[in-house]
Parts: sequence; C-alpha cells; structure tokens
Amino acid sequence: MQHTPYGPPRQYIPDRLRSGAGIELDDPTAHHVARVLRMQAGDPLILFDGSGGEYEASIAALERSRVSVAVGAHRVLEREARIAITVAQGVSSADRMDLTVQKAVELGVFAIQPVMCERSVVRLSAERAASRLEHWRRIVVATCEQCGRNRLPEVRPVLGVPAYCARPDPVVPRLLFSPETETRLSDAAARIGDRAVIAVGPEAGFSPAEEVMLMSAGFSRVSLGSRILRTETAAPAALAELLALKGEF
Ligand code: SAH
Repeated sequence: MQHTPYGPPRQYIPDRLRSGAGIELDDPTAHHVARVLRMQAGDPLILFDGSGGEYEASIAALERSRVSVAVGAHRVLEREARIAITVAQGVSSADRMDLTVQKAVELGVFAIQPVMCERSVVRLSAERAASRLEHWRRIVVATCEQCGRNRLPEVRPVLGVPAYCARPDPVVPRLLFSPETETRLSDAAARIGDRAVIAVGPEAGFSPAEEVMLMSAGFSRVSLGSRILRTETAAPAALAELLALKGEF
C-alpha cells in the first residue's frame, strides 16, 4: 500500500479483481491501513491486479486486524511507456540494485533481466538469487503502487552473461552501454521502434570477454556521454534519455 499525494492510496492485489466483489486485505496491508494510514470505513482507495486498468474501491469494514474492501468500478487506464524497454542489468550490490529497480520502474521500464557478471561484487547462491528476485519483485510492486502503473514490469530470474547471451531477448535493437565508444545514444535512437533492450554493467563494468559475448549476441555499443556514471545511475539515465528522444516526455 502506497500513499500518493495526488489521490487515494493504491494497493496491488495479486488475485484477479472484479467490480462488485468484496475482498479482505492481507494482514500486513490491513495493519498498514488501520494503524499507519488510520483509514476509516468509507475511505477510498485504488486497487489493481496487474492485468490492466485499476479499480475504484472503498473500505467496507475495519476490525482490529481485519479490513474488508468493496471493489467498485473498473477504469481502463494505463501509465506504460510508449516503448517497451528491457534492461539487462549487471547485478550490483544490494542497495544499488534496489535503486536501479525502483528508478527503472518509475521511468517506465518494460522488464528487468538481472545478469550476473564476472565483476559483480555480490555472489549469489541459487537460494540467495531466489530471495533477491522476490525482494526485487516486491520493490516493483511498491513502486507501481506509488507511481501509478497498473501493470507490473517483469523481473526475470538471474542469468550469467553466457547463459543470457545464448538466448538474448528476441528484441532489437540491443544496445550495450559502454563508456568506451563514440556512438551516441541520440544516433542509436533513430533505429528504435517500439521495443529495445539495453545492457548496463555492474559497478566495475562488463569484462572485455563479456562485451565480446554481448556483441556476438547482437548488442552494439552506445555511449551516454563523456562522464562515467555509476551503475545505478546508468540504467535510469539511459531510460529517461531514450524515452525523451522518442517523444515520451
Ligand atoms: N570502469 C567501468 C565503469 C562502469 S560504470 C568501465 O569502464 O566500464 C557501470 C556501467 O554503467 C557501465 O558498465 C556502463 O554500462 C554504464 N555506463 C556508465 N557510464 C557510461 C557512459 N558514459 N556511457 C555508456 N555507459 C555508461
């Protein structure tokens, strides 16, 4: 549940919603509604289930830890970007990766593919990779609640660079952000239609071998200018610049 300055609080519901239904909020959300937001019966909220659009809703009843909500009219309303941009992001340290996910979702990313790199500072066991993935997916939900998106961008399971390059996104163009090249994003933007995938390295960048693999997988190198951006800056900057170049803002 996220409070928004411009309207009622928004809540993602993982089950399919239906106008006229009554639903009960899960315990943490009910607690937040009752104790933190101090909402009352009759107060409005917005619900969305990720399948498109959003629902007007209101608190039907509040008991100590049980909150039921009446689901009202469905509104056909999307706040998706006009270009579906997938970010293949080299896995960075926890806080940086969290920032990348949050900012990318706010800026309208279509999907995020975390890629484990030779120079990634974190090493994830299978178990930790699964729990990181759940954690990133929770950030996606909270960010969509906050920023008004009614569809959840997918965060895909972590892959190593070789595994990702064996089956890269079936999307062109594929852009590899690299400070080493002269090709400007504004030149590459001309080749972009309604989809693109962009690869951004972790803190220390992709290794030369990984750059070669990515280029063999159809990526071409693009620069974001003469200053080296931190990894958590690069993907949001690339998204914002690409969308602006294509007339989104
Ligand atoms: N020393 C590393 C810097 C990594 S910065 C190197 O030289 O590669 C982390 C990532 O952000 C890079 O791998 C790249 O994908 C992206 N990035 C940062 N600054 C950039 C720039 N000016 N142009 C293109 N990509 C950039």
